[in-house]
Amino acid sequence: MSIFICEKCGKLDNTACGNNYWHAFVNKCNQADGKEISKCYKPSFEYFENHVCCSDCCEGVTYSDNSRTLRKRSIDAREKDHWTKFGKEKLLEWESRNDGSMVNATEYFKSIGQM
Ligand SMILES: [Zn+2]
Repeated sequence: MSIFICEKCGKLDNTACGNNYWHAFVNKCNQADGKEISKCYKPSFEYFENHVCCSDCCEGVTYSDNSRTLRKRSIDAREKDHWTKFGKEKLLEWESRNDGSMVNATEYFKSIGQM
């Protein structure tokens, strides 16, 4: 149960919820190692193959074989907080605890040019 920042909208979500976190996370690791990423979504959802996104952004993302569509589940937070509610320093502090409070703050702030 870790918290991450959605790369698409900047809201906070839980990695265990109805989002693409683990799929995109594995692909990012492979990409960093120069390996091919595994593509499992329809081409129109290509962005989601290697960007971790919250369950709001992932709603309706469909697998290329039509086996599944990402949908919010009962455990998904209805009202997610945007990272700006807590601020960069606080989120980096959570991440530095290394206990899963926050898993991608450094990477996120680098990606938006704030580190
Ligand atoms: Zn989002």
